[in-house]
Amino acid sequence: MKIYRNHKCSKRHKGARTFLRCAIPTAAWIHGTGNYALIAWCNMPTISLYQDPADAAQPLAAINGGACGQRCNGRHEIVHIDFEAP
Ligand SMILES: [Zn+2]
Ligand SMILES: [Zn+2]
Repeated sequence: MKIYRNHKCSKRHKGARTFLRCAIPTAAWIHGTGNYALIAWCNMPTISLYQDPADAAQPLAAINGGACGQRCNGRHEIVHIDFEAP
């Protein structure tokens, strides 16, 4: 699993969601809460956050099996946001 750590930027992100907004400004939407992100990179990136990576496994399998609702090219992944709030 890929890990996203704090990046170099002057903003103080309050959590995984604001961090991702900054790290992936092209994201169409970010849903949920948690430090595990299911990201579909197809077309406009869409991101769902989960508290537990096990909870992300099922939706990942679903979009892998049935496309993600966009012009899908199969680029879906779960990443861990190793984020420390300031
Ligand atoms: Zn930032
Ligand atoms: Zn897709």
